[in-house]
Amino acid sequence: MNREEFVLEVGKLGIDLSEKQLLQLEKYYELLVEWNEKINLTAITDKEDVYLKHFYDSLTITKVIDLNNIESLCDIGTGAGFPGIVLKIAYPDLNITLVDALNKRINFLNEVITNLILENVTLVHARAEEYAKENRSKFDVVTARAVASLPVLLEYSLPIVKVNGCFIAYKGMEDISNSNNALNILNGKVEEKIEFKLPKEESERTLIKIKKLKEISNKYPRRFSEIKKKPL
Ligand code: SAM
Repeated sequence: MNREEFVLEVGKLGIDLSEKQLLQLEKYYELLVEWNEKINLTAITDKEDVYLKHFYDSLTITKVIDLNNIESLCDIGTGAGFPGIVLKIAYPDLNITLVDALNKRINFLNEVITNLILENVTLVHARAEEYAKENRSKFDVVTARAVASLPVLLEYSLPIVKVNGCFIAYKGMEDISNSNNALNILNGKVEEKIEFKLPKEESERTLIKIKKLKEISNKYPRRFSEIKKKPL
């Protein structure tokens, strides 16, 4: 997806990017490719692919939520910053928290926010399930892309979502029937599930929006070893 196609397609998502925002994305791409030579950030480095499979893909969230009305968003397992950094560039007023278990990736993100002069971005080097213990019911929206199965993700994320806030999972093709138990225990309700194809290469995507209906027992999230051994 070249720059013109990107601008056109994100426009169809309802996002009108300024020259400054496009330059920030350009700089982000350059840093991604530069750092990717030293640390493993992404298998996708071709510029048009990054614009489609990372930048555009991150912004598809607007199909299920208007982020203009949101104050705080946490992206768990953000890796090289997807979708978190892209959302911060497109919605500069958002307070963003980016959580990842790998410190090298947090160091990269620190370089990105310094270079792009992004404010109100908090970087957290932690496992999501540990971070959740001290940060319950804190965020309007929590996101995760390519981090874990949905039942596991629900246990990581719903505890840190505010009541009536939501968790949004970016998935490929997804069967959500194995998440009913996790949804019951964690007081989550699937509010929307939409399936679509990325432009150009037509790969399948699913966005699942889950509302947190009420507070969750302090038992959750459990320790990683327990989550892994016995997912909800
Ligand atoms: N979200 C990014 C994306 O879509 O490109 C990164 C995806 S990468 C496949 C998964 C990331 O999740 C890795 O950076 C990994 O360190 C992080 N991760 C996996 N489990 C985690 C956990 N329990 N807590 C925090 N980060 C986690």
